[in-house]
Amino acid sequence: MTPTGEVASPESIAKYEAVIGLEVHVQLGTRTKIFCGCPTSFGAPPNTNVCPVCLGLPGALPVLSKDAVELAIKASMALNCEIRPLSRFARKNYFYPDLPKGYQISQYDEPVSEHGYLDIAVEGTAKRIGITRVHMEDDAGKSIHDGFRDSDRFSYVDLNRSGTPLIEIVSEPDMRSSDEAHAYLTELKQRLQFVEVSTCDMEKGHLRCDANVSVRPRGAEKLGTKVEVKNLNSFRFAKMAMDYEIARQVAVLEAGGTIHQETRLYNVESGETAGMRSKEQAHDYRYFPEPDLVPLRISNQWLDAVKAEMPELPAQKRRRFISDYGLREYDAEVLTASRPMAEYYEHVAEVSGDPKTAANWVIGDLSGALNAAGKDVTESPITAKSLGELVALINKGELSGKLAKDIFPKMFETGEPPAVIMDREGLRQNSDTGALEKIVDDVLAANGKQVEQYRSGKTTVMGFLVGQVMKASRGQANPGIVNEILKKKLG
Ligand SMILES: [Zn+2]
Repeated sequence: MTPTGEVASPESIAKYEAVIGLEVHVQLGTRTKIFCGCPTSFGAPPNTNVCPVCLGLPGALPVLSKDAVELAIKASMALNCEIRPLSRFARKNYFYPDLPKGYQISQYDEPVSEHGYLDIAVEGTAKRIGITRVHMEDDAGKSIHDGFRDSDRFSYVDLNRSGTPLIEIVSEPDMRSSDEAHAYLTELKQRLQFVEVSTCDMEKGHLRCDANVSVRPRGAEKLGTKVEVKNLNSFRFAKMAMDYEIARQVAVLEAGGTIHQETRLYNVESGETAGMRSKEQAHDYRYFPEPDLVPLRISNQWLDAVKAEMPELPAQKRRRFISDYGLREYDAEVLTASRPMAEYYEHVAEVSGDPKTAANWVIGDLSGALNAAGKDVTESPITAKSLGELVALINKGELSGKLAKDIFPKMFETGEPPAVIMDREGLRQNSDTGALEKIVDDVLAANGKQVEQYRSGKTTVMGFLVGQVMKASRGQANPGIVNEILKKKLG
């Protein structure tokens, strides 16, 4: 469906500059909720993972989860934020049917961390995007408006999600195009997945994104009025929604209109944004310090302990793969796309002793086979150890490159190590000089005429004799060694 709303022409859009800031909500991967011991597991029957705390019953008191704080610290470190030694929870008051407390426990002017940044690359140029703050909060429940027989008359509420730990990552308005916003989201997600703060699975709502978009004439200092666009449930839709919103705002301004500060929803089907409500101001929420929780103090000791658990981040890994393994930049990027991929590759490199060839197999044959089978590297039927062994067998001359290509699909199908398949199918390349000499002797004895021809100067019969040896060895003789032995024996 094509958009029916008024959007500006590319020529008009080119006269303006977009200013984009992002607010990203990420569900922390704890086993239990942030202020009670209820499980966070996805897909449980409605309203079963609940207790008086997350139901907001009177008198129930929240207890902050240490795991949730540690994951918030890890996320903050991955985003280069300064962690505050003292932060505070605050009540954010609003009514919603799936918010039984009538308020969300969030953080306001004293968030867990602030002043961070992420470096992104857009068309080969590096750019630093500021991160204003990271704050912790609890999630609301879920209103379900469809899927029931009487959904035309009723909405249902499931409170399993109520009290799930979240962090909100607020960026500075540093992005100037939807491409920059897309690059920021991609880098952010990759980092949080690497440090295992969250699965960032957007389909399950583990990563949600809102965009603040405004436009101003190119060269202008003053920021335009910003509009918040919600409901961006994939990076692709987020980019489309921002592009639409930029074009809509330019059209309004070009027609002499004004932009109103509001919240708009992106409609995936029409490709348009539509006004939802005028944007709340912070004072609408009547924030005040949460009286049921003491301030959160994070000691240097605690920070050091968490720091010691931090894994290598993707950018560091890329640099190390290039310097230590001699990989090309593109290959290093592909192999660090996810932490499981990077770990798989490093294991193959280690077992094979040949990091460059290992990279070719992982990026080429393995990734191809995984894609075709619709599998992730974590589901690979071929273990990293087996693939490393395959590369090592080729390098030792026990397996020709051609036979390796034949064995690989069998490894993928059965999950067996290469040696098992080679032995069963008699595919092992024979490099045993003693055994090969015996075969060569037999072949020479049986082909006296060709031996004579060779000795009288017709060296082209060498090819024939090599062929006879290969045949006698059922294709398993190492051709290089056969050639050497033949030359020696024929003088
Ligand atoms: Zn609970």
